[in-house]
Amino acid sequence: MREDLLNELENEYAAQRRKNEETEAFRRNKIRNEYPGIDALVREREEMIFGTLHRILKQDAEKDAFPEKMETLNGKIRELLKENSFPEDYLAPVYRCAKCRDTGYTGELIREPCECMQKAYLKKLREKIGLAGQKTETFETFDENMIPDEINPETGFTQRQQTLFVRKQCEKWADSYPKPPVRDILLNGKSGLGKTFLMRAIANRLIEHGQQVLMISAYTFLQMARKSYYEAETGVQELMEVPVLMLDDLGAEPMMQNVTVEQIFHLLNERQNRNLSTVISTNLSLEELQKRYTERIASRLCDPKQCLVLTLDGKDLRRIER
Ligand SMILES: [Zn+2]
Repeated sequence: MREDLLNELENEYAAQRRKNEETEAFRRNKIRNEYPGIDALVREREEMIFGTLHRILKQDAEKDAFPEKMETLNGKIRELLKENSFPEDYLAPVYRCAKCRDTGYTGELIREPCECMQKAYLKKLREKIGLAGQKTETFETFDENMIPDEINPETGFTQRQQTLFVRKQCEKWADSYPKPPVRDILLNGKSGLGKTFLMRAIANRLIEHGQQVLMISAYTFLQMARKSYYEAETGVQELMEVPVLMLDDLGAEPMMQNVTVEQIFHLLNERQNRNLSTVISTNLSLEELQKRYTERIASRLCDPKQCLVLTLDGKDLRRIER
């Protein structure tokens, strides 16, 4: 787990526990001040717990009757609360997660992050890497039924078959990371064929495996790169150093002379020198990539020794009527 995110989380959990305590105190006070009948029972319970502890410490007998008495008392309190239109557990300890009681950890001797903490961590991580709200786009939720399944006479197979093939390649690659057979992936094909979905599925799988990923659109990257001319911008450096970078929608960024091509080249070059993986999606064909970014970049993008080029073809899935 990344330390900065973990620290943030632990602070949030501590704040939540303080909030819980305030809620408990507020409720206890309300009962104390406005419901003397319930208050008397609660006091009796408190004394009983305290007294029993005392007796247990002194190894006194009588503790056997304790659970029974306690349950009767609890029952009475619950009933009275209900009668006064409070929820039964109004005076019970307050927490969001019953497993860890909002500590974020379970286990007595070996502390392990609680499920709720792991979930919150992943949520934070996704926000941080540009995948916020996209956790549903995974290989598991990939729905092949929405892809047309008629044979294309030109290719001899269907759009669904082709997409499933690409999906499988992507999943294999993600599962083989950090030792993938080829370093990079280039996903190309017209818009609406599922490239971004597959890219997010790769990112989500890598995150599940604890790998470090960042996802950014080419458009946002270019904005960041331009900004870094004028002011300190550490984000660009992070993009060059993150183990896996997902660069979405290459070709959709504005083409500015002396900026776009240079910046994209610089990014790819830095990453290749560090031998770091980059997954790119683009609407452009290989010829169009060459034309737009020069031969120099295109040959790096599509080098079969370094890059798995996966092409999607067919009808725009967003426009198919269902
Ligand atoms: Zn928990």
